[in-house]
Amino acid sequence: MDLVLFGIQGSGKGTQAKKLVAEFGYYLFEAGGELRKMAASGTDLGNTVKSYIDRGDLVPFEIIMEVVRMAVIAVPQGKRILFDGIPRDLDQMKSFDAIMQATGRDFRCIHITLDKQKAVQRILGRAKIENRADDASEESILRRMDLFLQKTMPVIEQYKQLGKVIEIDGDRGVEEVYQELKRTVK
Ligand code: AMP
Repeated sequence: MDLVLFGIQGSGKGTQAKKLVAEFGYYLFEAGGELRKMAASGTDLGNTVKSYIDRGDLVPFEIIMEVVRMAVIAVPQGKRILFDGIPRDLDQMKSFDAIMQATGRDFRCIHITLDKQKAVQRILGRAKIENRADDASEESILRRMDLFLQKTMPVIEQYKQLGKVIEIDGDRGVEEVYQELKRTVK
């Protein structure tokens, strides 16, 4: 079964995703990473994508969903996918569910929880290490967190009602979170 990882920026979601991929051999679909690659391409489309990322806004629906669709189609049936950063709002959720259904894929969700205050502190530290322009601006960070709380939380709530979500407390060390995560995905 595929996995969809949710968590506010700074929750450690990306770190945990990489650990799961290394140990269990998931195919990683990292929405932000895919879009950053596009943004670096220097094409007109790339420049459009970059302008959204730099502001901390969601890239338009058609662009991101096409990227997801192409990626999912390219993954062989037997290989499990770990989705990080998609779906981010209810429209994306509807489209994501349709793609998954059309390709015969099933998934469950994991939400790594962390309160906003702690998340801001963590992310300001990460900006210095990873040198990400969108993390260096406090305005962009807060904008992305508000988007998560306003747009992505309702997605998590809906999946919760469908019994698809496992919550994991992200306010702990990387290894501690990972050990619990591992127990739930096995
Ligand atoms: P992330 O690495 O997940 O923090 O994403 C970085 C940026 O990529 C976001 O602030 C958005 O501009 C863009 N992005 C990532 N995932 C999505 C998505 N599912 N829909 C639209 N834009 C996205």
